[in-house]
Amino acid sequence: MPNVLAFAEARGGELRKVALEAVTAARQVADQVGGEVHAVLVGPAGVAAKAATLAQYGADVVLVAEHAGFANYAPETTAALVADRVKGGDYRAVIFSASQQGKDLAPRTAARLGCAIATDVTSFSVGGDAVIVTHPGYTGKVVQTLKLVGTPVVLSLRPGSVSPAAKAGAGRTEQVAADPSGARVQVTETILGDSKKLDLGEAPIIISGGRGLKAAEHFKLVEDLAAAFGNAAVGATRAVTDEGWRPHSDQIGQTGRLVSPELYVAVGISGAIQHLAGMRTSKCIVAINKDKEAPIFKVADYGIVGDVFEVVPALTAAVQQARQSSH
Ligand SMILES: Cc1cc2nc3c(=O)[nH]c(=O)nc-3n(C[C@H](O)[C@H](O)[C@H](O)COP(=O)(O)OP(=O)(O)OC[C@H]3O[C@@H](n4cnc5c(N)ncnc54)[C@H](O)[C@@H]3O)c2cc1C
Repeated sequence: MPNVLAFAEARGGELRKVALEAVTAARQVADQVGGEVHAVLVGPAGVAAKAATLAQYGADVVLVAEHAGFANYAPETTAALVADRVKGGDYRAVIFSASQQGKDLAPRTAARLGCAIATDVTSFSVGGDAVIVTHPGYTGKVVQTLKLVGTPVVLSLRPGSVSPAAKAGAGRTEQVAADPSGARVQVTETILGDSKKLDLGEAPIIISGGRGLKAAEHFKLVEDLAAAFGNAAVGATRAVTDEGWRPHSDQIGQTGRLVSPELYVAVGISGAIQHLAGMRTSKCIVAINKDKEAPIFKVADYGIVGDVFEVVPALTAAVQQARQSSH
């Protein structure tokens, strides 16, 4: 029976939501091909404790590689570890997240395996001897359907395109020996952003601001709306990050983060193709813009034509009220 390998991304020994998305996706493929889900978990000593969580989402086997050198991302050793496992077993597919780390790791692994790869995948199925995936192309102007032939195939999934779904797997744990200390590429330091901020790739709701906000201090409007929801992150366009109003890490789009939250609120954003490339797969898009011809309205599920300085405070008050009355 062919199995499916999922890369369970962890940071500093903690599982990321995209790890559960990858395992959930692997479970879906494994159920189609009748195989097991094997999850690779790499981290510093103690990361093995996270194996039980992966089992809850469908992992039958959790391959744990613990080493102090995995406290930071170790690209060469991790790609070699995954590829060697795949070469030594019967695997139909290898699934990563198209997170910042997965964008680096998935191609490295596919190159080692010499197999087909599809990146930034938004849906997938197994049809006969091929794996069929969809993937936004030409900065999101089209959605391409790709047919990947050969076995195995490597996929990286756009964060948020699969919702983590609990489904118990057998959860057997295997220790795997790996030592990143001799690798040619060594990540010597990772400087974390604001750890209290919800990560854009993990947030169910994103409130994004554009140049229509006119100045850095007006992002307070966006932050207040995000705070009213309670589980929202703040994003931005490149116009905004280029101005220095927000850090580059907040940028969404072709040259920023790729996101697919449940709800995306675009505040004073025109909807340039490069911005849409990063967010048009969001489940529900709300746009607020004073120009009714703004391209963002073409992808929006709900559009509000109006001034952000009037609409956003009113929306924030309405969300606060709705949440209070639901408690
Ligand atoms: C190679 C390349 C890569 C790029 N990558 C990215 C990327 O990753 N992400 C990205 O975002 N962009 C990217 N860009 C830039 C992109 O082309 C746009 O310039 C950018 O997205 C525009 O940002 P914006 O919508 O904030 O600003 P603008 O296009 O200036 O739009 C501002 C909007 O605010 C509205 N507005 C103004 N005042 C108000 C008000 N008071 N109330 C309501 N609405 C108001 C206006 O009607 C307008 O629609 C890239 C460009 C290139 C060439």
